[in-house]
Amino acid sequence: MIRVEKLNKSFGDLHVLKDIDMTVNESDVVVLVGASGSGKSTLLRCLNFLEIKNSGKIIIEGEEIESDTHNLNEVRQRVGMVFQHFNLFPHKTVLGNVIEAPTQVKGIRKEDAIKAGKTLLDKVGLGDKYDVYPSTLSGGQKQRVAIARALAMKPDVMLFDEPTSALDPELVGEVLATMKELAEEGMTMVVVTHEMGFAREVGDWVIYMHDGKIVEFGHPNDVFDNPKEKRTQEFLGSIL
Ligand code: ATP
Ligand code: MG
Repeated sequence: MIRVEKLNKSFGDLHVLKDIDMTVNESDVVVLVGASGSGKSTLLRCLNFLEIKNSGKIIIEGEEIESDTHNLNEVRQRVGMVFQHFNLFPHKTVLGNVIEAPTQVKGIRKEDAIKAGKTLLDKVGLGDKYDVYPSTLSGGQKQRVAIARALAMKPDVMLFDEPTSALDPELVGEVLATMKELAEEGMTMVVVTHEMGFAREVGDWVIYMHDGKIVEFGHPNDVFDNPKEKRTQEFLGSIL
């Protein structure tokens, strides 16, 4: 469970996140939408402590996390993240990518990490690709490796930042299907995406961000069919 209270983040003079309040309950899938530059990635990066907030609270599993008192590497293990551009290690095999952090960061025995890694790769449909290098994979396959790699750390929460935006259209479905499966297994997820079909089908909640603020929050069908705010209507009109 994540709770965010009055979160503010600036880059120099640019005030990017403005008093963000948000709760993501256990097993919820929260879909984050909003125009380019509205602060979606910055919000995810603050939740994962890739960016450090200026003020406000971030509470993960009941514990308020502060960058000066917590080991952020440990916190990041609990919050998995999947990016638009997969960021796989090119010189490591698919399985090598998946076992890297469990063995190097968590100190899991290699045999155990391999066993768990293979199970995860089977789960994302890459049971025949353990030993190949990322360069030989399609974008959809790379993204599924990235998902398996994040899951290998057994995170409490998974953050997805436009995981399908860099993919050819015919590869989007396989990644969304993997994410849907994860959601059905009860993973807590925050997903930035323009895939409105996914948002309706898998999302429990939708947050619409505008200019660093949350301006609308609700169930997907309510937000998409009856947006309260004019800005939400305009934005949705531009992408649906
Ligand atoms: P997009 O849909 O294009 O991915 P976004 O909603 O994810 O947009 P952010 O990437 O969070 O938007 O950016 C919000 C604002 O913060 C933008 O004006 C961006 O230029 C600025 N910004 C983001 N990261 C940095 C940084 N490291 N340094 C300075 N400015 C930044
Ligand atoms: Mg972004």
